[in-house]
Amino acid sequence: MALVIQKFGGTSVRDADRREIVAQWVHRAKQSNDQVVVVVSAMGRRGDAYATDTLLDLIAGKDHTPAQERDLLVSCGEIISAVVLASNLRDRGLSVRVLSGGEAGVITDDNFGDARILEVRPQLLQGLLAEGTIPVVAGFQGRTADGRMTTLGRGGSDTTAVALGAALNASVVDIFTDVDGIKTADPRIVPDARTIAELDYEEIFQLANLGARVIHPRAVEIGRQSGVAIRVRSTFSESTGTLIAAGHGTLDPWGHRDPDHAVTGITQLHHLMQFNVTPRSSMVKDWAYHLFMSLGENGVSVDLINLFPDRVYFCVPPEKTETTKQIVENLGYAYEAYDDRAKVSIVGSAIQGLPGVMGRVMAAMAQSDIEILQSADSHSTITLLLHRHNMEKAVFALHRQFHLDEEVPRK
Ligand code: ADP
Ligand code: ASP
Ligand code: MG
Repeated sequence: MALVIQKFGGTSVRDADRREIVAQWVHRAKQSNDQVVVVVSAMGRRGDAYATDTLLDLIAGKDHTPAQERDLLVSCGEIISAVVLASNLRDRGLSVRVLSGGEAGVITDDNFGDARILEVRPQLLQGLLAEGTIPVVAGFQGRTADGRMTTLGRGGSDTTAVALGAALNASVVDIFTDVDGIKTADPRIVPDARTIAELDYEEIFQLANLGARVIHPRAVEIGRQSGVAIRVRSTFSESTGTLIAAGHGTLDPWGHRDPDHAVTGITQLHHLMQFNVTPRSSMVKDWAYHLFMSLGENGVSVDLINLFPDRVYFCVPPEKTETTKQIVENLGYAYEAYDDRAKVSIVGSAIQGLPGVMGRVMAAMAQSDIEILQSADSHSTITLLLHRHNMEKAVFALHRQFHLDEEVPRK
């Protein structure tokens, strides 16, 4: 008997009609004799009564609210969603039990707001499954070993689902969402982006980490470590979606690679804050060392670092702007800060060591008259820092440049 995890995102459980469609998916899985664990996100998006952002808006500007209390507040969204969906399942005669993340055995550290799962204690879930009951678990949350409520970072219901899948040795974790799989670019920017049939963990991790919010990077990380297969698919269509599993990469196993078709996807992140910091005198010894130590000690994570003897460029998330300015001022350095930055990345396992890829990136930017402010690369990614107003144009240009709108045999 196969065990499947079915995770439903916020838009999938937004209203009564959609919750009925969700209930059909669960019922269908149960009828085919599968054991099913359901994981839900909070209902809807900002403006919907119990969506995560709506709950957060209740304390907008109240920076004195402790992170632990924020977690208590937002965790209600998933709990409400789980109880309401469970009622749809009971209407169908199914045996159901609603569990908070902590009750389902999700144990985390105490980094409130962005906690990491330390372990999953699956005994209660296993007992329920053995008696034929469907656990409906509130996603995005866990508890510390001493019982305090935590949340797993925005988009973290995916992480709950994959962690439960790994702990219960599920045959697949189905991430049901509002698009029919992982696409070659965000369909809100490139409407004709193609759905990618199969991916390995590495490429989707890079896409997720660099902005593709369709799946949380930590969920992919747990998938990679445990080997549990993940399928991203639509709640609202029968399409098979994207399968993420080991050995399902887009890289040609014979090593044939073509710079025109070496890229798997394009992704973007808007709202980055770029800093250009200079010591007032180039004689300040170890100036950059002091800067990065101080940033680290104050919990500021930096990105896109370009270090030169007399200056350094780097980016921080917008919510860290004031802390960063304070740190730089305390050190007595000069800085310029720009709040209109975005980054656009290409991702593809096949770009490693392949001549001509950066040339094509530059061609796409030149043809669209887009200025590159900074760049960074790894074995499977190239990232460009751009003016925010060029972000969509750049995603489009790169999508076209690497022929991602065309159907190509990739193996
Ligand atoms: P859910 O609430 O179901 O978790 P999310 O909003 O977190 O849904 O993720 C789905 C959204 O991710 C899509 O509506 C789409 O706009 C966005 N997205 C960004 N990049 C991609 C991509 N490469 N492929 C598919 N969707 C993407
Ligand atoms: N509801 C949470 C969020 O909006 C978790 C999730 O949707 O995965 O971030
Ligand atoms: Mg999501």
